[in-house]
Amino acid sequence: MDHVGNIFRPPSEASSLLIQVTVGCSHNRCGFCAMYRDKQFRGKPFEQIEADICEAANIGPRFNRVFLCDGDALILSTSKLLRILNAIREQLPWVVRIGIYGDTRCVGKKSVAELTELRDAGLGIVYHGIESGDAEVLRRIDKGGTAAECVDTARKLWQAGITHSVIALLGVGGVELSAQHARATAALLSQMDPPYVAALTLTIVADTPIAAAQQSGEFVLPGKFGLLGELRTMVAESGFSRCRFSANHASNYLPIRGDLPRDKAALLQMLDRVIKSRDESLLKPEFLRGL
Ligand code: SF4
Repeated sequence: MDHVGNIFRPPSEASSLLIQVTVGCSHNRCGFCAMYRDKQFRGKPFEQIEADICEAANIGPRFNRVFLCDGDALILSTSKLLRILNAIREQLPWVVRIGIYGDTRCVGKKSVAELTELRDAGLGIVYHGIESGDAEVLRRIDKGGTAAECVDTARKLWQAGITHSVIALLGVGGVELSAQHARATAALLSQMDPPYVAALTLTIVADTPIAAAQQSGEFVLPGKFGLLGELRTMVAESGFSRCRFSANHASNYLPIRGDLPRDKAALLQMLDRVIKSRDESLLKPEFLRGL
């Protein structure tokens, strides 16, 4: 496999074959993200991608899922993505789902008809980091998309029949915007109504704008129980038709997971008990946390 630099994938793609179709992220400006700062964005030549697919075909049916890397690979043109998906379908017929990272920019460039073509060619799931529903937070982190565009993205993916997995980021508004970040994110998630939501916890990474803001005192990360308070607000104030809601990523202090709305009362009960206790021994120790 030709993997340029560090490769990232969602936790739920841990057992997937990782095929890198782009290098880096076409946006590469989010203030908290250092994943691709060392990479100049580019699409990889189809011949290179095809060689990786051939290599996987020679190994045989070891993976039944594929994840297309890097950061926002859905930004590739529909025609190139179709070539890639068709090559996977032809050479790896045992693959049952193909996933990719995408956001408002990627989906905004594609019509529902194009997205449906991608779905028909095997694209099953798009992982989309919205981070926040609050306009001021989105501006400060330079997310580059609006809440309204997120709602449109959700609508288009739903119409195309592609599963939408949405990621929100606890703590990204800092102490100053913590309450409005949590409330606006709950409101946006409700409007988007995706089948999967993951709430991750911000970890400040060196050499990012948010790290510099933290150093200057401009940004203050909420404390552990403040972060759980944000999570509580997102669970309490969101209204989903049917959503698997997870906050069990390596970055989270208190792993929770449930189906909303069914498990809302149970999740809130657990969060309230821990928040009220202020007992840090109930939380994941810092050394066990990951990005
Ligand atoms: S968070 Fe996502 S969109 Fe933003 S810079 Fe990182 S990879 Fe790119």
